[in-house]
Amino acid sequence: MGNRFTADGSPYDAGGVYLSNGATDVFYDVLTLAGCSLAETPWQQNLVVRFADGHRLGLGCDGFDLGDLPWTTEWPGEKTFLLRVVDLAASRHRWDLLRYDPPVISAQLAAFGGMVAGFTPVPVRASAWGDWRKPPPSDRLSRCPSHDLYEGEFGCRLCEHVAASCG
Ligand SMILES: [Zn+2]
Repeated sequence: MGNRFTADGSPYDAGGVYLSNGATDVFYDVLTLAGCSLAETPWQQNLVVRFADGHRLGLGCDGFDLGDLPWTTEWPGEKTFLLRVVDLAASRHRWDLLRYDPPVISAQLAAFGGMVAGFTPVPVRASAWGDWRKPPPSDRLSRCPSHDLYEGEFGCRLCEHVAASCG
């Protein structure tokens, strides 16, 4: 069981990037480590909070399509930010904080980054993910004193791993 990340309509949409449940946890861990060092604007903070909360609930059903993100008319900058987060994660940014050695995530990050690069966002009028032009609730942005990561909805993802099956 795992999670699929897709980009409908992009040249890379040949099934997208498929990650096992364990790899999905790693994926969101390293994107959160990178994103918490980069996010400045409300849209960027919302994206990184989404990563911080990624795969905490809904084990095995937390992939997404890039078209699901609440892209705005500022999407070129939003896409550039997502690519910066992926690139920084691929540089092993703060991986010393991980309790494990992620063996294959680099290839998966490269595949995901390639998919993002080949994707042309379309501004979304109303996204199920909310309006990312507004900042996230301030408590989601509080940072773990040990890891300096956003607490998100479920607490720092490196302090404890809470996950429930989506059935
Ligand atoms: Zn922590």
